[in-house]
Amino acid sequence: MGDITKVLEQCPICQCRQFYLSKDFNQFVGCLIMLIGIILVPFTYCLSLPVFALIDWLLHSKVQTIINCYKCGSEFRGFPKGNLKPFMHHIGLKYDKCR
Ligand SMILES: [Zn+2]
Repeated sequence: MGDITKVLEQCPICQCRQFYLSKDFNQFVGCLIMLIGIILVPFTYCLSLPVFALIDWLLHSKVQTIINCYKCGSEFRGFPKGNLKPFMHHIGLKYDKCR
């Protein structure tokens, strides 16, 4: 636990040096929440949509940001974000070829 504040420079599994940020959030749960909101529209006079959008947003804001390795997809928690960015499609494509 001593070096937990160290910036993640290299993937310990595949030695890849490129990472992207993602939310530790189950996409399925997010979709389910919106679906319930849509289903309830006729009963709530469309009030369910903003309410469920808010619930969705609250869930998103509560979840941790995790760091993912581009090459092997490993997830890393507890590292500082540094200047990492969310998933970049063109970088992802580059690593797709290597798999
Ligand atoms: Zn890796």
